Amino acid sequence: MSPPSPPTIDAPADWEALPLEDFRLRVRTWIEAWCPDEVRYPAGRLRWAQSREWWSRLYRRGWIAPGWPREHGGMGLSPIRQIVMLEELERHGCGRMPDQGITQVGPILLRYGTEAQRSEYLPKTLSGEAIWCQGYSEPNAGSDLASLQTSARLQGDRFVVDGSKIWTTLAMDATHMYLLARTSRGARKQQGISFLLVDMSTPGITVRPIRNIAGDEEFCQVFFDSVEIPRGNLVGRIDEGWSIAKSLLGFERLGIGSPRRPRQAFARLEQVARARGLFGDPAFLDRYTELRMDLEDLSAAYEEFVDQVRRGEPLGADVSLLKIWGTELMQRISELALLAAEDHAALAGEVALEGSSVNVLAPFYSSRPGTIYGGSNEIQRNILATTVLGLPR
Ligand SMILES: Cc1cc2nc3c(=O)[nH]c(=O)nc-3n(C[C@H](O)[C@H](O)[C@H](O)COP(=O)(O)OP(=O)(O)OC[C@H]3O[C@@H](n4cnc5c(N)ncnc54)[C@H](O)[C@@H]3O)c2cc1C
Repeated sequence: MSPPSPPTIDAPADWEALPLEDFRLRVRTWIEAWCPDEVRYPAGRLRWAQSREWWSRLYRRGWIAPGWPREHGGMGLSPIRQIVMLEELERHGCGRMPDQGITQVGPILLRYGTEAQRSEYLPKTLSGEAIWCQGYSEPNAGSDLASLQTSARLQGDRFVVDGSKIWTTLAMDATHMYLLARTSRGARKQQGISFLLVDMSTPGITVRPIRNIAGDEEFCQVFFDSVEIPRGNLVGRIDEGWSIAKSLLGFERLGIGSPRRPRQAFARLEQVARARGLFGDPAFLDRYTELRMDLEDLSAAYEEFVDQVRRGEPLGADVSLLKIWGTELMQRISELALLAAEDHAALAGEVALEGSSVNVLAPFYSSRPGTIYGGSNEIQRNILATTVLGLPR
């Protein structure tokens, strides 16, 4: 049951001054008290309408932007405390909200934006008035993002944008997009790309949702037909958007490689196995034990990277192994859960299984895209091969 009234803003506390385990405990206690049930263990991505109340509670508490500096409305947390916060949210099963404004746009504007852009967008992003989507991928530019063709021609004080973006997560809920568009052609295809902020209500923008394998509409194709964007919405210098877009990737791979989601899927596998009496079956136990050991190995590797962050060291290219391992393990766990559930696995939604109720298909569906987004696993393997192992390109 949700508490009767939402919390209000705390007197700002210096979170960095608390010992790490006290900080973790305070975060955990507050999340357990105030996180609404509707956002816990969602079957797919949370839409804005589902997230609004939880967002507003975190905002009023002053906790919506753990990594932003305090003078801009964030918590000013060090990377290790941001990880603790994320771990506690995952531990409680809190679904991911449409948070790209917090994780991507805010840090980008703080580093590359103008004063006018910061005062226009940062407060709205914190309060949830501005919900952002990421307009990078195109029908012919995904892994090879620098091949993007969407054009932005500068005409006087406006850019005129034409083209289309695809796989844009929750574009139908977004009020704004951060967009990569081609403003010129340079010697290298990474040159001539610019980073623009777009109001989604601008005339000429059409958003068409795409239905995924689970039957949900989580991403979209977005079309731009002579869309006029004020020149003041350019972030950084014209033609130099590539380095802005690439500046935030390492930390994302640590998050995607966290063992929390595979652990939740593993708990569901155990629930299915118990209900079907499979713990006496040697063939099942063999596969179960292998996955369990792989999960422990993933947790140990994750802790090594977290320790690196704790020591204040930057993450290297080897963090790619965590993304590969975590996402592929999640897939293997959810596949064994389907086999264990036998014909129940063909049923969508909650299934009654010998006295318990479990959604068998949800972890399977939600594990599929993990090997594609955030840089596909093949690309991560290329990074490990060339950058870490020094193999020839
Ligand atoms: C759930 C989900 C949400 C997403 N949300 C967004 C979003 O909000 N905004 C956004 O801009 N994009 C988003 N994306 C898109 C995502 O970034 C791309 O799907 C991803 O970059 C891969 O590009 P692609 O789909 O065009 O596949 P391609 O790049 O065409 O790749 C096809 C296959 O070829 C492999 N491959 C490609 N190049 C190489 C290579 N050099 N070596 C070896 N193998 C290679 C790939 O690994 C893949 O298996 C999302 C994707 C998913 C699945």
